[in-house]
Amino acid sequence: MPADPVPGLLGGRPAKMLIGGRWVDAVSGKTFPSVNPSTGEVIADVAEAGPADADRAVAAARAAFEGPWRRMKPVARQELLLAFADAVQDDFDELRLLEALDMGAPIGKRRPGARAWEADILRYFAGWATKIHGETLPNSIPGSVLTYTLREPVGVVAAIVPWNRPVNNAIWKIAPVLATGCTMVLKPAEEACLASLRLGELLTEAGVPDGVVNIITGFGETAGAALTEHPGVDKVAFTGSTTVGREIVKASAGNLKRVSLELGGKSPDVVFADADLDRAIPGAAMGVFAFSGQVCCAGTRIYVERPVYDEFVEGVSEFAGRLKVGDSLDPETKIGPLVSARQLDRVRGYLELGPAEGARRTAGGGRIETGELAHGFFVQPTVFADVRDDMRVAREEIFGPVACVLPFDTIDEVIGRANDTDYGLAGGVWTRDVGKAHRMAAELQAGTVWVNTMLLFDPAVPFGGYKTSGWGLEMGRHGLDEYLNEKSVWLRTD
Ligand code: ADP
Repeated sequence: MPADPVPGLLGGRPAKMLIGGRWVDAVSGKTFPSVNPSTGEVIADVAEAGPADADRAVAAARAAFEGPWRRMKPVARQELLLAFADAVQDDFDELRLLEALDMGAPIGKRRPGARAWEADILRYFAGWATKIHGETLPNSIPGSVLTYTLREPVGVVAAIVPWNRPVNNAIWKIAPVLATGCTMVLKPAEEACLASLRLGELLTEAGVPDGVVNIITGFGETAGAALTEHPGVDKVAFTGSTTVGREIVKASAGNLKRVSLELGGKSPDVVFADADLDRAIPGAAMGVFAFSGQVCCAGTRIYVERPVYDEFVEGVSEFAGRLKVGDSLDPETKIGPLVSARQLDRVRGYLELGPAEGARRTAGGGRIETGELAHGFFVQPTVFADVRDDMRVAREEIFGPVACVLPFDTIDEVIGRANDTDYGLAGGVWTRDVGKAHRMAAELQAGTVWVNTMLLFDPAVPFGGYKTSGWGLEMGRHGLDEYLNEKSVWLRTD
């Protein structure tokens, strides 16, 4: 067990929330348990925010936005981001441990001193803090009129994030907030709050002023909904399911909040016969199984060109069978548990549905119910072959380690089938033919296309969804725009 970072985080007392720079209980005094999905044990109790806490947090964020933060120089915000980046880097082992305990992400083997990807995101956005500027625009107005734009922070942001990568998800929202001079209320998912609370402690240590980042813990339908309806919130930045994304659009209509949404997916991953199968098989497999399939952009519909179909199915099934499933704290573990009993039930439903719909199970297929994993929420990495496009396992987001493999014959056919989905988050392509690679990159209706790789991210490269996978972009220059208003100024000078 790590030292108890935030008062009460793992120490037996309920963990508190960060509002206006103070660690506080919920107004109601209510708490809820946080469960380690590897063991089924309660590891902490967490404050359960309700609408009154959302009010307090929004008021704190508003007060900070209207206060000295607004006038803080860009270089000062840059320094804060860099100090926070250093704190995240220094604390990284503990953050990873909290994630492993709270949501089951395998802790893996980390070299001491290895770079923390989340710290690099903060450093990238620190660079932007001093480079946000408007433009001087030539106009054709008679006489002498100067026109220019100012880029201003949108104001108070409600950031609502899911449980699948707690540190990463929080930092994707905190970084642009600090770079642009917004303030925020962060609501992590009820399944995994602890790492976000630790980030709150690090933000305070780094010197981020009180009220700039507030963190409330609680359930989506209460604390989350209160934020999205709140008239004091200027923008909602949401990552989560498409179903909740729709709720958020409706709830934010009152004061027409700015809304950015990073939602679900059922991404195609297309393996051509000319692909290097030694790379494509593990690449496509981990494109599904990484983080137990609890990744929004997982390439879960694997289309394989007929001449290599049997070889691929055999290879990917064998790969799935070899993955070590285990406790998230075991450094050898490749595949940890699902996040919760509820998620386990959902995924088991699909594991039964696949064969019932006519899919051929070639690996895995069930819960792991024996030995030391019996009390956790573990399922075997599963491969369904001979899947048809109309099966529910091929159409619905499962959010578990379940690969659906479907044969195809021509490039035109596979483009049509890959795009025949309401989602459009990402797509994968495996080929040695550069022409095919570019054609697929252009034709796939998705916000990200990976060729001969999967699931790569960089803070300089934008990420977002087409169709029902989202609105707006995160990361990169484009990600900043979501947190800025652009104002036009007209000045007669004659
Ligand atoms: P997942 O399916 O990955 O759990 P959800 O979309 O259910 O994703 O949840 C993502 C985040 O949205 C969580 O923080 C959750 O508490 C929050 N949430 C769920 N329902 C609502 C809602 N109606 N309004 C606002 N936030 C919500």
